[in-house]
Amino acid sequence: MSSASGSITTEHRARKRFGQNFLHDANIIQRIVSAINPAAGQHIVEIGPGQAALTTPLVESGARVDAIELDRDLAAWLSSHFASASNFRLHQSDVLKFDLSTLSEEPRSLRIVGNLPYNISTPCIFHLLSYAPLIDDMLFMLQLEVVQRLAAVSGDPQYGRLGIMAQYHCQVDHLFDVPPGAFRPAPKVTSAIVRLRPLRDRIHVARDEALFQRVVRDAFSQRRKTLRNVLKPLIKETGATELPVDLSLRPENLSLADYTGLSNAFYEARK
Ligand code: SAM
Repeated sequence: MSSASGSITTEHRARKRFGQNFLHDANIIQRIVSAINPAAGQHIVEIGPGQAALTTPLVESGARVDAIELDRDLAAWLSSHFASASNFRLHQSDVLKFDLSTLSEEPRSLRIVGNLPYNISTPCIFHLLSYAPLIDDMLFMLQLEVVQRLAAVSGDPQYGRLGIMAQYHCQVDHLFDVPPGAFRPAPKVTSAIVRLRPLRDRIHVARDEALFQRVVRDAFSQRRKTLRNVLKPLIKETGATELPVDLSLRPENLSLADYTGLSNAFYEARK
C-alpha cells in the first residue's frame, strides 16, 4: 500500500448522490472487521470501499479482495493507494450492473461485504440474491429500518417482500446497531450490521422461483387488499381452483412457508 498517496479525507467531499457516509469510528470498524473475520485463502468482494475504512484491514488479512466502487475519484485513489497489494483489485463499476460470476463460478466461493450506499441498498440486495449459489455469506451495514425489514417475520410491522425474498435464500442475522456519529458526514438514521448466509438445505422450496417471486410481488403490491383481490390475475392465468391458504387474509398474514406453498399450487395448476 502506498503511503505516498496519503489520506483522501481532506480532499474528497462526500457525494450525496453516491450515498457517501464514511466510517471513522475505530471501535466500530474493529467490531465490523471482527464480525467479518477475514483470512488468507478467502475471496472477499467489498461493495463501496470509499476511503478504505474496511478495505485496509481486509487487504491486510491476506484475503483476496475485489472492490467495486462507482465514484471515479475514489476509485483512482484506491487503485493508487493499494497499488503494491497483489491481493487487491479495484473495479470501477456500478454494483447493480456488476456480474459477480466474472469473479468466480465456484459454488459458495465468495464472501460479500460492504457499508452499502443506502440509496441503492434494496436493489443491491435483490441483485446479489440472484447470485446466491456463488456466495458463502454477506455482511452489510444498512439502515436499521432495512435490517428490520430483512429479518421481519409475519406479524412484524416491517414484514414484506424484502424479508420474504431474503429469508427464502438466506439465514438472516441482525448483529448490532451503529449510531450516526460513527460516520462522516453523520447520516440522519441509525444503521445496523446484518449477516445473510445463503441456505445450504432449504426446507421450503419453490418449484419455479420466478413464479414464487411473482406471487410475492403481486401479493405485496397492495398490502391493504385481501389475497383474493391481489392474486386475481394469477388465479385467472393459472386456472387454479384449490389453493392452500385462506384468500380472505391479507398478504402480511402469510408466512414464507405459506408463500412457497401458494406458489407451488399455482405451478401445479398451470402445468
Ligand atoms: N466503505 C466506506 C466506509 O465504510 O466508510 C464507504 C461507505 S459509503 C456509505 C458507500 C460507498 O459506496 C461510497 O464509497 C460510494 O461512492 C459507493 N457507491 C455508491 N453507489 C455505488 C454503486 N452503485 N456501485 C458501487 N459503489 C457505489
